[in-house]
Amino acid sequence: SVSVRIENVTKIFKDLRGKADVVAVNDANFEIEPGELVTLLGPSGCGKTTTLRMIGGFELPTKGRIFLGNEDITFLPPNKRDTATVFQSYGLFPHMNVFDNVAYGLKLRKVPSKQIKEKVMNTLGLVGLRDLAQRPPSKLSGGQQQRVALARSLIVEPSVLLLDEPLSNLDALLREQMRVEIKRIQKSLGITTIYVTHDRVEAMSLSDRIIVMKNGFIRQIGSPDRIYEDPDSKFVAGFVGKVAFLPVEIMSVDGRCSVRFEDKVFEVGKFSPELKPGDKGVIMARPESLKLLESGAGMIEGRVNTNIYLGGSLESFVSTDRGEILVQIDNPAEKKVFAEGEGVSIGIIPNLVKALPDR
Ligand code: ADP
Ligand code: MG
Repeated sequence: SVSVRIENVTKIFKDLRGKADVVAVNDANFEIEPGELVTLLGPSGCGKTTTLRMIGGFELPTKGRIFLGNEDITFLPPNKRDTATVFQSYGLFPHMNVFDNVAYGLKLRKVPSKQIKEKVMNTLGLVGLRDLAQRPPSKLSGGQQQRVALARSLIVEPSVLLLDEPLSNLDALLREQMRVEIKRIQKSLGITTIYVTHDRVEAMSLSDRIIVMKNGFIRQIGSPDRIYEDPDSKFVAGFVGKVAFLPVEIMSVDGRCSVRFEDKVFEVGKFSPELKPGDKGVIMARPESLKLLESGAGMIEGRVNTNIYLGGSLESFVSTDRGEILVQIDNPAEKKVFAEGEGVSIGIIPNLVKALPDR
């Protein structure tokens, strides 16, 4: 497998009716290691598909360079670069059965038919479709069509696999199964993979690293736990998980950071390096960095709105004068649980929260 590197890549779409141009991707830089699975994550319209299409060769950058290993592929057509793309819509040939759909890329490359047969059956085995080789796509479920599309890309043994929201047409259960499947196949082949999604759970569960995008800009690159626990901004914090932002004043920053929330001053576990004493900031509180206490004992008074029992944990939605705040209670069987309608106080676990700039 091979690395993928994009350097100062910008894509501007000119608007034909003379309106403002769209900067779909704005000076993006990243490098993906050989064999790594990296997700491009962000809201609709943030530039994920455009980034992927430039790597696949379906769109030319306005500026910048794209490399596979040491090879500059910026201007190569899709069939001249060692990438394979699975599009959101699968793009199967309806008049060909599963076997011929998967064999297509090898036939184009004039591979001898005996070899084609062996490779197709091996690849169908990899995606669990050996028994359906003779079926037409119209007689397949969504999940099976998805597997055919994947097999068709994998059979040409690309160095880089590009997947654009490949599971978005599947129902929730199938999506979860295919997620595990894709990761298993990707790891067993060791194929460098770029995966586009707007679904944070998908990104968190699949990725070695996540690239979070917004409005054409890369906002943060990091492992799922890093992005979740140690985000650089309110945007990333809010996009990758449930969170409450509480306004604080930054009191001191010197290797540690102490903040003032209302009349209470405490040290936080993590803080943005941009913060200075006197700044207005926020603390990012995940549901698991908060706890429920008797009225008056914590930092924010409230009342339990709804309790959602999830087995190993309980989610308590608490209404406060700072809006509704979600508190996660692990092992609820061992803890005091406050009933719906009961008055409570929310406590902050200081070493689990992060102070961020308020923007
Ligand atoms: P995402 O995949 O994250 O939803 P896209 O990369 O598809 O986002 O789009 C990024 C931005 O570029 C959007 O504002 C979109 O409208 C615009 N865009 C994408 N493709 C084209 C195109 N062919 N012509 C003009 N604008 C485009
Ligand atoms: Mg898209």
